[in-house]
Amino acid sequence: MKRRDLLKTAAAACVAPALVPGTHAAAPASLETTIVRLNLQHAWTTTMSSSEYRDTLHVAYSHDGITGHGEGAPIVRYHEDAASARKAVESVRDLALAADPMQFSKFMAEVFRRVEGEWAGKAALDIALMDWVGQKLGIPIYEYFGLDPKDTPLTTFSIGIDTPEITRQKTREAAPYPILKVKVGLDTDEATIEAVRSVTDKPLRVDANEGWKDKEEAVRKINWLEKQGVQFIEQPLPAAMIEETKWVRSRVHIPIIADEACQHAADIPKLAEAFDGVNIKLDKSGGILEAYRMIQIAKALGMKTMLGCMISSSVSVTAAAHLSPLVDYTDLDGNLLISNDPYQGVRVENGKLMLPKRPGLGLTPA
Ligand code: MG
Repeated sequence: MKRRDLLKTAAAACVAPALVPGTHAAAPASLETTIVRLNLQHAWTTTMSSSEYRDTLHVAYSHDGITGHGEGAPIVRYHEDAASARKAVESVRDLALAADPMQFSKFMAEVFRRVEGEWAGKAALDIALMDWVGQKLGIPIYEYFGLDPKDTPLTTFSIGIDTPEITRQKTREAAPYPILKVKVGLDTDEATIEAVRSVTDKPLRVDANEGWKDKEEAVRKINWLEKQGVQFIEQPLPAAMIEETKWVRSRVHIPIIADEACQHAADIPKLAEAFDGVNIKLDKSGGILEAYRMIQIAKALGMKTMLGCMISSSVSVTAAAHLSPLVDYTDLDGNLLISNDPYQGVRVENGKLMLPKRPGLGLTPA
């Protein structure tokens, strides 16, 4: 053998192990759960909490040489944290490893039956499976649902509760976004809106996060907000005050959207008279499949639909964005509020959600 051929053979021998056909196809299914700490660019304050970081649960599901990624952001209001979400996913590990991932609806129905609560954990698992399914079929998730990526709505960019000075600074930083969502619900609401309005005249959407406690106060504030160019109000009163919200709705002119009052598909019919629409989040619903059901039920009841998110990485936000061609409004900015996103997925151009065209979620490492 000539020296040149010998070198070629040696080089081939070095790479050979990775090229043996079928080695990855024969690999058993695996499931990895990791708690990831996401750092916020600004401390994030709403009526419910204030923090500088959020821990979310990440799930990686591998089968047949394909890995699907999922994420769930646990919601304190529903008594969840990252550790409890992880424990919930670990409790169905054996079921997940034995399941046929193409029977994802059957599998997730069984997970919903076995696990009580822990919606963020369920969402992480559902998203990982749907990412896997999309990659297996070679199509993006929006295509699996028969949607046109050109139909994505504009997303709002959220401004958490802060001092007027920092609110003005955040509003200036939000210059690339044509619609803003402003958090209110404390006793500083007027000062917050005035601070935003001192910087910009763009359309605003306002989220009170159950912050107002009586119906007269809600009517007074909503009618004032309408005069400030606010398009709709999210969850003005506590979730349980459905009758009072119905009373408020008959006295205001802008739509009222349910968020904390609307967690699952079964919640929606009883909300139809009190609210004009619902804000659906994968972390509340338990994933893409339940969120899709919720969108269809809300539409059937003549309600507006919105997709929102918690503070999370591009995994969860991109998963929601794949369903966004179906809805009227989106608030999918959780990944834009953090400084250490491990992935890239959906992008925002002048407020418009731009879906990746790669199979599954279409994620790439950041
Ligand atoms: Mg909300």
